[in-house]
Amino acid sequence: MVADICDENGWRLRGARSLAAESLQIHLTGIILPSLCQDDDVFHWVIDGDPMPHYSASRTWEGRATKQSTVSLLVQHSVWFKMATPRHAFLMWIAHNDRMPTRVRLSSWGLGTSTSCCLCDSALETRDHLFLGCEISEQIWKLVLRRLGYTHSAFMTWTSFIEWISLKDSTTPLILKKLVAHATIYNIWAERNKRMHQEISSTPPTIYKLIDHNIRDTILEKKKIKKSFKTLMLSWLRNV
Ligand SMILES: [Zn+2]
Repeated sequence: MVADICDENGWRLRGARSLAAESLQIHLTGIILPSLCQDDDVFHWVIDGDPMPHYSASRTWEGRATKQSTVSLLVQHSVWFKMATPRHAFLMWIAHNDRMPTRVRLSSWGLGTSTSCCLCDSALETRDHLFLGCEISEQIWKLVLRRLGYTHSAFMTWTSFIEWISLKDSTTPLILKKLVAHATIYNIWAERNKRMHQEISSTPPTIYKLIDHNIRDTILEKKKIKKSFKTLMLSWLRNV
């Protein structure tokens, strides 16, 4: 909460790790401390300078989309789609924009951490290595892709990965492909964090089982509101 990061002495913020964070901290030092204000907290949503009466995901997206003209519609539909699991889609979006705090990025912020991959400890922990090129991730993708019915077992580049989740094919329904890709990225990142912060590690088959559970839960939940999701479960179970 905001109250947790300020007291009567001022803001209690850790060092800014990016230009945007630094700008925010400069702004914060110029406004009245929330702890000294007697009014109730309220949310203010402002998009492109227009105050909004309430939060609107579509308006927020439009605001982003006009700013980021390089974002193709293809990618937009691959990351933000109606039936996506929000926490998976959010992480996928951050990863797609290469904004994940990988060890290489942490190091570039001057944090002095090792740049070695948390999963294999034998390569630089960049986004592309961690999610696609790492031997651990490759083993997970191999299991996932085989389950979906594909003969290829890995992705050479982030671009080829995004193209794969953006384009329809005859092997598996596009929506299932997107849900599985999101869940795989999410679980690889969760595994990386567990290894980094808790020193707990799971094997690729165990991580694959978590992805399987994620997908089953998502389909069971969504099929209550969308009947076509029933056929997705059949597609997901056909290669068990
Ligand atoms: Zn690795």
